[in-house]
Amino acid sequence: MIIVLKPNTLQEEIDKLSIFVKGKGVEVCPIVGTEVCVLGLVGDTSKIDCSQLEANRNVARVMHVAEPFKKANKIFHPEPTVIDVCGQKIGGDKLAIIAGPCSVESEEQICEIADEVKQLGAHFLRGGAFKPRTSPYAFQGLKYDGLELLMEARQRTGLPIVSEIMSTNDLDIFEREVDIIQVGARNMQNFDLLKQLGKTSKPILLKRGLSATVEEWLMSAEYIMSGGNEQIILCERGIRTFESYTRNTLDLSAIPAIKELSHLPVVVDPSHATGKYWMVEPLAKAAIAVGADGLLIEVHNDPANALCDGQQSIKPKLFGDIMEKLRPIASVVGREL
Ligand code: PEP
Ligand code: MN
Repeated sequence: MIIVLKPNTLQEEIDKLSIFVKGKGVEVCPIVGTEVCVLGLVGDTSKIDCSQLEANRNVARVMHVAEPFKKANKIFHPEPTVIDVCGQKIGGDKLAIIAGPCSVESEEQICEIADEVKQLGAHFLRGGAFKPRTSPYAFQGLKYDGLELLMEARQRTGLPIVSEIMSTNDLDIFEREVDIIQVGARNMQNFDLLKQLGKTSKPILLKRGLSATVEEWLMSAEYIMSGGNEQIILCERGIRTFESYTRNTLDLSAIPAIKELSHLPVVVDPSHATGKYWMVEPLAKAAIAVGADGLLIEVHNDPANALCDGQQSIKPKLFGDIMEKLRPIASVVGREL
């Protein structure tokens, strides 16, 4: 971190500021010019509150040299993280495909979809039991009964299950019964939830917030990691932009950006990114081409009657076709499917 002081700042003020930052455990290297003095801070600056420094009337500017995320940073962990979930790996050479309905609706529905996606090559089964709906009048999920049905589908197919947690009240059951705990876009900055998940032992699928920058997203991963749980899978699911044709705008550039900044695996959700079932295929292909470690795709056996997100859900047949079309793309970028 670099602090640029205003021209002609008194030595006495420079000394006071130096003592203040040294008190935070970092070293101060002053560079004194004829008019301007710059303080270089060396060491772990993560505990320094930038806005506190900017509030000092002698400070002209504060600049970051290093990123504020540490545990998620590739600099301190150059090897890519590979997460092992019940023997299935996320982040290695093999792409991870997570498929299933937006929400669990009935035993028949989840078991039929689970059988089909398993047979067509999915590695994980997704299904929402607790649904974060925009309207309080919309279907809110089967809740604990939905989790039970997901467990039954896992038992049947052997597919590990992925489901979204909404409340810290449900931590125990999710830690016990769910293989990958999903944090939805709307909860990406629910810091209390993130801190609690830091104490759990299950991998976390952390979706990007609706309007979150890449740095904010990685800082949310940092919240979980700083609590001790370093098994994070990032998920790009589209961001809010001025464009309204699609539900969101898939930020494909976030994938190489994450690969540059972090060692964490990152998957793409083309379903929520576009909100249109017919856009899932082209964007799934693009996601693999730009280096995503996998995909999260909404698959429903009867999209027209789905209780949630039918418009963006593909039928099992199309899911199978897409899987076949992804194989050559995966092989061109050195991945396996
Ligand atoms: C979901 O995965 O069904 C979901 C609600 O996603 P998001 O949090 O990305 O909107
Ligand atoms: Mn959904």
